[in-house]
Amino acid sequence: MDAQENKENTIEKEEAEVQMLAEQVKNAKLKQQYACGQIYKVVNKNNPDEFYIGSTRNTLRVRWADHKKSMKSEHFRGLLYVRMRELGFDCFSMVLVEDWPCDNKDQLRQREDYWIRTLRPTLNMTRAYLTPEDRQEYRVQIRAQRVEKDRAWREANKETIAESKRLKREAHKLEISAEELKAEQRRKADYAKEYRDKNKELVLAKRREKIRCEICDVEIVRASKYDHERSEKHKANLPVQPAVAPIIVEQA
Ligand SMILES: [Zn+2]
Repeated sequence: MDAQENKENTIEKEEAEVQMLAEQVKNAKLKQQYACGQIYKVVNKNNPDEFYIGSTRNTLRVRWADHKKSMKSEHFRGLLYVRMRELGFDCFSMVLVEDWPCDNKDQLRQREDYWIRTLRPTLNMTRAYLTPEDRQEYRVQIRAQRVEKDRAWREANKETIAESKRLKREAHKLEISAEELKAEQRRKADYAKEYRDKNKELVLAKRREKIRCEICDVEIVRASKYDHERSEKHKANLPVQPAVAPIIVEQA
């Protein structure tokens, strides 16, 4: 092993140690934060059967102030806050269920979930902690609910769906006939062009046709008929016109 390699190995080792220390500090901090973990109950003073289970790493006083803030915000739509808004914050009080010093959030949440499953509070809307298996089961349930909701919606909107499908089919048909119309127009344009070309040939052939001028006793092409009839040669061959006597109108 040369000096360079040795140096690199040392640096790697030091980096690993620093990382490990950082991890330990982080865990120690977390442990400190969750050392004062508590599980609490929020109870309707007039109806002890109506309650909520929560957990906190802060003091109950701080958590209680947070609940009050949340109640005032429209963002919080949980059942607890709905009831607090209905009955007034002062109708509820906070009671310690137990101190639960622990190392991290998961541990505190697991304990909160234990109390939710045990006491069955009426104002909690969700579980506090889900194991991976719970999570998987939850996903399956949600999916099944969604499928059922979808099926119910389809059942309730059968006619609308059928009508929408029919409209789609119609639109598809119209699209096809628009294509057909375009093809038909193309065919017509091609035919007209073909006709014009053919006709042009016919017209040309007609203009090249030989005809006779009986006056001059010569053969000419039809195209030159107009010019021929106005030529000096043709005019010279014309028979002399009889003079027309002037019409005299007698005055009465
Ligand atoms: Zn002539």
